[in-house]
Amino acid sequence: MKIVILPGDGIGPEISAVTIDVLQAVSRTHGLGLELLHDSAGLDSLRVHGATVTPALLEKVRGADGLVLGPMSTYEMKDEARGEVNPSKFFRKELDLYANIRPARTYPGLPNKVGEFDLVVVRENTEGFYADRNMEQGNGEMLVTKDVAISLRRITRQCCERIAESAFALARTRKQHVSIVHKANVLKIGDGMFIDACHEVAKRYPDVTVNDFIVDAMMAHVVRAPSRFDVIVTTNMFGDILSDLTSELSGSLGLGASLNAGSGFAMAQASHGSAPDIAGRDCANPSSLVLSAAMLLAWHGQRSGDQAFVTAARAIEQATTEAIACGEMTADVGGRMGTKAAGKALTARLA
Ligand code: NAD
Repeated sequence: MKIVILPGDGIGPEISAVTIDVLQAVSRTHGLGLELLHDSAGLDSLRVHGATVTPALLEKVRGADGLVLGPMSTYEMKDEARGEVNPSKFFRKELDLYANIRPARTYPGLPNKVGEFDLVVVRENTEGFYADRNMEQGNGEMLVTKDVAISLRRITRQCCERIAESAFALARTRKQHVSIVHKANVLKIGDGMFIDACHEVAKRYPDVTVNDFIVDAMMAHVVRAPSRFDVIVTTNMFGDILSDLTSELSGSLGLGASLNAGSGFAMAQASHGSAPDIAGRDCANPSSLVLSAAMLLAWHGQRSGDQAFVTAARAIEQATTEAIACGEMTADVGGRMGTKAAGKALTARLA
């Protein structure tokens, strides 16, 4: 399996270094034969190549079996004409990585204020309110006069159906329950279509139970009783917001793993951003990217039928859980180690 690694901006290089060590360790112990291809995207690439992502990089990624994308300082990328393209958007759009799978669960040894839970947010990744990526050409956000802005939200039945399909198929492997999250009381046409499409797909999964929640109330429900949720399916922006909440409820945004999956390619990426407030301070929690990389291995194993990849992914999850439980992790989850030391300790558990 060839995996391209792009460390990213801010804390990206710090948490990517740990992820690389962990991947190399499980490659050895589980005989995966991983080939890691190192390259750059984001502000580093902008300095060197004049663009945050280059056509050559896209070709390299297309030739690989997976991608690990570090967090990017996307807020600083203002002008595509000057090469400042959001790499996250770029790969999601170019590779049609429509399903953003964001699991969140509580961990033994971590204080939890809202009770134990284990859920997955399945977020549509290619349209919705993300006006920079929901058009074939150009950008769906415009300044009509200097005081009037319009941001377009695109919803298509096809994208609703395929994300619903991902959610129901996932629920079948878990507790067989899907919650649809929407704002159909206001966005009656777009979110109405989303709900309809989800219920259409649900007919093919009679063993999976379904309910639905309006997104604003959902924020309260998920804080009040997260244990009642299994798989949550929602549109792009709602999923982005909700999954930061569920990740923080699990203990820290630094535990927020995610996989961006399409029909033939997947990209591991932490849920959070480049965290410039803690960059270079050796205190970023590497678990988010490490667990995302584990999801990529599991995805590859399930598709290829090679069980060793699935076993390696489980070993990474288990080792991370144990490290958190005994404080061999960063301060955001009550640990006593810096990023580097936590990475070393985690890698040692997998060696
Ligand atoms: P952020 O997610 O980077 O950080 C939010 C808070 O969580 C900060 O206090 C940060 O220190 C903390 N945090 C994040 N990751 C952590 C980790 N691994 N360990 C410990 N603490 C962690 O959000 P932000 O500060 O609003 O955004 C910073 C930059 O990241 C912006 O340029 C934004 O556009 C970008 N961003 C990129 C992505 C992406 O690449 N997918 C996603 C979100 C934001």
